[in-house]
Amino acid sequence: MAVMRTVSILGATGSVGTSTLDLIDRNRDAFEVVALTAHSDVKGLADAARRTRARFAAIGDAALGAALAEALAGTGIETGAGEGALIEAAARDADWTMAAIVGCAGLKPVMAALKRGATVALANKESLVSAGDLMTLAARTHGATLLPVDSEHNAIFQCLDRDRLDKVRRIILTASGGPFRTWSPAEMAGVTPERAVKHPNWSMGAKISIDSATMMNKGLELIEAHHLFPVGHERIDILVHPQSVIHSMVEYVDGSTLAQLGTPDMRTPIAHALAWPQRMAAPAERLDLARIGSLSFEAPDPVRFPALALARAAVEAGGARPAILNAANEQAVAAFLGRRIAFLDIAAIVAKVLDSYDPSSPTSLDEVFAIDAEARRLATAMMEEKAA
Ligand code: NAD
Ligand code: MG
Repeated sequence: MAVMRTVSILGATGSVGTSTLDLIDRNRDAFEVVALTAHSDVKGLADAARRTRARFAAIGDAALGAALAEALAGTGIETGAGEGALIEAAARDADWTMAAIVGCAGLKPVMAALKRGATVALANKESLVSAGDLMTLAARTHGATLLPVDSEHNAIFQCLDRDRLDKVRRIILTASGGPFRTWSPAEMAGVTPERAVKHPNWSMGAKISIDSATMMNKGLELIEAHHLFPVGHERIDILVHPQSVIHSMVEYVDGSTLAQLGTPDMRTPIAHALAWPQRMAAPAERLDLARIGSLSFEAPDPVRFPALALARAAVEAGGARPAILNAANEQAVAAFLGRRIAFLDIAAIVAKVLDSYDPSSPTSLDEVFAIDAEARRLATAMMEEKAA
């Protein structure tokens, strides 16, 4: 690219964060790194900060501040620790900010970036699910730009005529179906976290991999799409496409359906967002359709994947429902990864929390966090009760 772009990466040590760094490493002359953050991986963060000559590195776990400062001593790279440092990293001026923290933990930093009118490449779908109305309002108020990084939403962004949303008949969100697409509930009942994180097509962080296995990931993506592309949630359909070649589609009133295709490599949508509105090369494997031979499609199964209906109901009702869905799910997924509950309990816990808690719509970020905390407390109490 012709012009040097300054960039920050929130969640630099994760799956999306390291893919973003890989693209930056291959294009050193085009990017200057302002800030990098991580939760607890001091070494990963310090290595990335040294390599990219970042100006500022922030570690989320406040207890690791001294270790980070020591790891970067003598480099001239500023360091910070704790939630305030993550927010500062997001608030520092950069042309482009990658939001790749996992979970609602990314919400305050992403809001800090939006409030400075930044261009934000959004991977952190949980923040948008929990606080979509407040986030999109902040983006509009401060003139910020949200660029979708999630492969489906990036595909829709590429196919969507944003000036003619009224001519969109449907958005078709494709889903791989995850590792248990063809499994019976009895087979799913006993799966281990090791088995569930093995996605057939994508290599991703643990939390999103479990979400793909329950298909809650597609439910969260439905809510994400509803906020990013205001065509009406009833016009967003989910279609299972096991090969993950078509990353999503947009159908127009004239019968035209546009799709974006590619191999399953996050560096393609990240590169799209990183260079936007230009294009840049990405090292993803090229799509060889003759070798793939055929693509298949099927309707999602709402019985084996109850998370889909929970998310659909949450987006229909709006208000606090998506934040409750997300918080209960984050808590249940963490418990499954910690071997405290079984795989099928995840969606069951989310359903139970949604049944027992119905606060009014949040009107501030503080209210979103209060709802998030209460939904987590309820989920934890239910899981402990079940275990007792
Ligand atoms: P990951 O677990 O690999 O990385 C998460 C990053 O967030 C790490 O840098 C970690 O240090 C940081 N982090 C974790 N908890 C934190 C906390 N409490 N406070 C501050 N930082 C914290 O996750 P990932 O797979 O890279 O996913 C990141 C986000 O992108 C998620 O919201 C996910 O749904 C979304 N996403 C990921 C992919 C993918 O291919 N991995 C695809 C689409 C969307
Ligand atoms: Mg996705």
